[in-house]
Amino acid sequence: MVDSDPRDSSQENSDDSISRVHYCPECKKPLRRIEGKMGPFWGCTGFPKCHATLNDLDGKPSTEINQHFRCPLCTRRMVKADADRGKYWFCSGYSKGCKVTLRDDNGRPETAFRCPDCGNVLIKRQGKNGEFWGCKSYPDCTTSFNDLQEPP
Ligand SMILES: [Zn+2]
Ligand SMILES: [Zn+2]
Ligand SMILES: [Zn+2]
Repeated sequence: MVDSDPRDSSQENSDDSISRVHYCPECKKPLRRIEGKMGPFWGCTGFPKCHATLNDLDGKPSTEINQHFRCPLCTRRMVKADADRGKYWFCSGYSKGCKVTLRDDNGRPETAFRCPDCGNVLIKRQGKNGEFWGCKSYPDCTTSFNDLQEPP
C-alpha cells in the first residue's frame, strides 16, 4: 500500500533520550510520540511525506493504525486487541481509567454512544422488537433508545 522508495533520511531525528525507538510501519522512519488534543498518539518523523499515525498504548505505539475509531466516552483512540475469545477493541485511555471495550464488528469497533444518564456506553442490543440502543450498565441503567437510524 506504500511505495518502496528509500526515502532521504537526513531529516531523521536522533533522540537519544528515548532508548527504545519505534519505527513507522509504512516508511521505517522513527516514530515520535505526540500529545494530541484527543490524547497521545504516535506520528511519523517522515511527516509530511508520510502520514502514518499509530495509537498510543501505554506509552508504546500500537501496530493498529487507526485514526478514525475513537472512544465514545473520552474520545481517545480505540485499540484493537486479539483475545482467545475473539477480536475486540478497548480504549487507549484504559490506563487512565477509561474501561470502554467494544466488540469487533468486521474490523471496526461496534458503534457506541455515551449514555446521557450514567455516562457509560450505549451499544446496539437485540430485543424482542428488534435492535435498539441499550446501556452497557444495564440492569443498573435502563436507558435505551429505539431508533437505530437516529443515534441518541
Ligand atoms: Zn512513516
Ligand atoms: Zn475512553
Ligand atoms: Zn446508562
